[in-house]
Amino acid sequence: MEDLANRPDAEASAEADVSGGSISFYRNGEGFVDMCRGPHVPSTGRLGHFALQRVAGAYFRGSEQNPMLQRIYGTAWLDKVGLEAHLHRLEEAERRDHRRLGAELDLFSFPDEVGSGLAVFHPKGGIVRRLMEDYSRRRHEEAGYEFVYTPHITKANLFETSGHLDWFAEGMFPPMVLHDHDHAPGEDAGQDASQGEGTRYYLKPMNCPFHILIFRSRQRSYRELPLRMFEFGSVYRYERSGVVHGLTRVRGMTQDDAHIFTTKENMGDELASLLSFVLDLLRDYGLDDFYLELSTKPEAKAVGSDEEWDEATEALRVVAESMDLELVMDPGGGAFYGPKISVQARDAIGRTWQMSTIQVDFQLPARFELEYVGSDGARHRPIMIHRALFGSVERFFGVLVEHYAGAFPAWLAPGSGGGAAGCRRPP
Ligand code: ZN
Repeated sequence: MEDLANRPDAEASAEADVSGGSISFYRNGEGFVDMCRGPHVPSTGRLGHFALQRVAGAYFRGSEQNPMLQRIYGTAWLDKVGLEAHLHRLEEAERRDHRRLGAELDLFSFPDEVGSGLAVFHPKGGIVRRLMEDYSRRRHEEAGYEFVYTPHITKANLFETSGHLDWFAEGMFPPMVLHDHDHAPGEDAGQDASQGEGTRYYLKPMNCPFHILIFRSRQRSYRELPLRMFEFGSVYRYERSGVVHGLTRVRGMTQDDAHIFTTKENMGDELASLLSFVLDLLRDYGLDDFYLELSTKPEAKAVGSDEEWDEATEALRVVAESMDLELVMDPGGGAFYGPKISVQARDAIGRTWQMSTIQVDFQLPARFELEYVGSDGARHRPIMIHRALFGSVERFFGVLVEHYAGAFPAWLAPGSGGGAAGCRRPP
């Protein structure tokens, strides 16, 4: 970016191009020139409904070599009602902040000794979490899911085949290297050993490739499909410390992860029952204000033929439209390996959280050469659907703490001691 702060010609509403968008300059009186996105009013005197919120020190242009300036935060609204509603929302958000409530209610903490973004759940938080998970397990069992378990680490080969090391490496923790002498004689040291560098192991950032190996462990028949695998799978992702935030942005999380292998013919039906299942379960936990977002083929690069994309996108669209919910299009927002629906939920104070995603994948079944034997006796490639419902248990926990302001419904409350065990659905 051009060094805009040094531009001598800063004028009110002068415009400069900044990475595709535009910013402009605002001048108030003689001494004050500000650079911002706007929109601007001719004078701060025109601001009828505003509140000053806080002051902070900020170094000029972010460098501590420069003088300290005073930054004043405020908010301005068209009318009194808008301003008051906004201030109330801020107050509510503060009151409900799950990081504060987590400590006050003795639910969880982030010990320095463990590291940024790595939560430990205390006994009271443990009760809530167990009730959340138990209910989810029961519903998944009833919906025909089979439970699987996979390790937290794997040799690099797996994520080379899956492509994660090509396109997700920045989101992964660095590898652990096991040197040759760590292996017993004759033990398979993996591909890397031949290069004399030892074997690299990675903490898994996703569970998908493990579930694929389970699918591939023996010959599959069309009679076994759809095959729905479910795991509370712990994954680790390297998030920059600046973006780690309470339970909602962490480095270690447990996904309620499912992978469904289906025939292409059955894909539409499977997506329909899947989306109903997802929405029903979210409603059971007390979220009931949703809209859906449909992300389509990215412009730049995408695997799979146009026909495959059209077919999958159309199947998702039909399913999304049948749900009687607002549907927002996200053109080009799909992953390169397939289109997706995401479920956006509004909480008790109107904030939107992206919850579940349902993702069709053409890429991984091809990379791992997955096959099943069809009713015609020939080999076919299954379609894979990725689905996380909570997203992660940690994040969902954080969202529920804020949604309920710490006052969980009886069936989820730490004092209940598992009161929901007897009933299928929470009240
Ligand atoms: Zn997956």
